[in-house]
Amino acid sequence: MSNTPLNMDAFDREHLWHPYTSAVDPLPVYKVSHAHGSTIVLEDGTELIDGMSSWWCAIHGYNHPVLNQAASDQLQKMSHVMFGGFTHDPAIELGKLLLRIAPPSMDRIFYADSGSVAVEVALKMAVQYWAVQGKTQKQNIATIRQGYHGDTWNAMSVCDPVTGMHQIFGTSLPTRLFVPAPESGFYDPWDAADTHELEQLFATNHHEMAAFIIEPIVQGAGGMRFYHPQYLRELKRLCEQYGVLLIFDEIATGFGRTGKMFAWEHAGVEPDIMCIGKGLTGGYMTLSAVLATAQVAELLSSGSPGVFMHGPTFMGNPLACAVARSSTELLLAQDWQATVQRIDAQLTEALAPAKTWSWVRDVRVLGTIGVIEMQDPVDMAVLQKEFVRRGIWVRPFGRLVYIMPPYVISKQELHTLTRELLAVVQQMGAGQ
Ligand SMILES: *Cc1c(COP(=O)(O)O)cnc(C)c1O
Repeated sequence: MSNTPLNMDAFDREHLWHPYTSAVDPLPVYKVSHAHGSTIVLEDGTELIDGMSSWWCAIHGYNHPVLNQAASDQLQKMSHVMFGGFTHDPAIELGKLLLRIAPPSMDRIFYADSGSVAVEVALKMAVQYWAVQGKTQKQNIATIRQGYHGDTWNAMSVCDPVTGMHQIFGTSLPTRLFVPAPESGFYDPWDAADTHELEQLFATNHHEMAAFIIEPIVQGAGGMRFYHPQYLRELKRLCEQYGVLLIFDEIATGFGRTGKMFAWEHAGVEPDIMCIGKGLTGGYMTLSAVLATAQVAELLSSGSPGVFMHGPTFMGNPLACAVARSSTELLLAQDWQATVQRIDAQLTEALAPAKTWSWVRDVRVLGTIGVIEMQDPVDMAVLQKEFVRRGIWVRPFGRLVYIMPPYVISKQELHTLTRELLAVVQQMGAGQ
């Protein structure tokens, strides 16, 4: 193992943009050679235990033989064919599977390319739904603060207005309606005060609201917050009372991540429209889907123009659908609840010591998501280097040091991951 796993590839540094990174002074990146199971192998042979699932996606770990086979089988048939005028088994079989695991009210599936595009599609559906009914004033979208829904234009507009990108893009973004995120945590008693502003928002603004979009239970990239299921029940009641569509963004929370197949199940509340992505293909490639009730789909298709106005070039991509089907079957074929429960219990126990440290604000776990929230923002570059030196892959942001490992992570690997993670967090306190 080399002491300098950092790969300062000159071409990469000079010509490739990385996520949320400067083009002139980029943070270091590590060059990956291959990956398998929960292990990411760098070019110099350094092995890292993966704590990120490549941003929620790689639920079965990397280089999985079953998913590899599904991709390779599909490649022998066709990688892609246009979805306009054609259909195919991968899209149909995946669709059947998704309706089996989705909220019972979901009936129609729109395949899209990425999570952000799914959010765009969902918002467009909501606006068109009201427009065809002549309610053209219902065009705005409401949401809670501290949310994250993606990086495209409208997705960005419903991200948190402070930590999101509103400051940079200013009035070029549509102005959305925001209410504070619920304060009652997932494990806390419910505080009815959490819905006061929500009630007011609906009472005052419902005639301009096409939809309310929210990440159910877990607010991911906007702050890794776990909130109380009762909030979703109150929200659903208000949506029904005032005639506003409810959109659940399950792009991060889907496919077992929170301990349920989808996070809505914690509250028993079904949306009108739901976005899924990330873990859908087990992290193999990009694919998302927007699910809608029959009522939304049918009303939207009535009147003029009678069609839903969206159609990505790579819609229903057979290769992605085939892998997504295989990944979902693989998940359903195992006792994934027990696996997630085991990881939840292990994370809860392993991260608990950090609760007592003064430089740590909070420690929380839900399903396979473990979060250590610091008092102050962390230096990502410094921390990342230290994590890699210790053989683990963790990518903090802001005040959040968090992990969401692949479900295939072994007890021993998870033990090493949390031990090294805690050692680094402990060092940060010593450095104060
Ligand atoms: C990641 C994410 C998105 C955006 O998905 P992309 O595939 O990155 O476009 C949207 N919503 C939530 C909740 C996410 O976590």
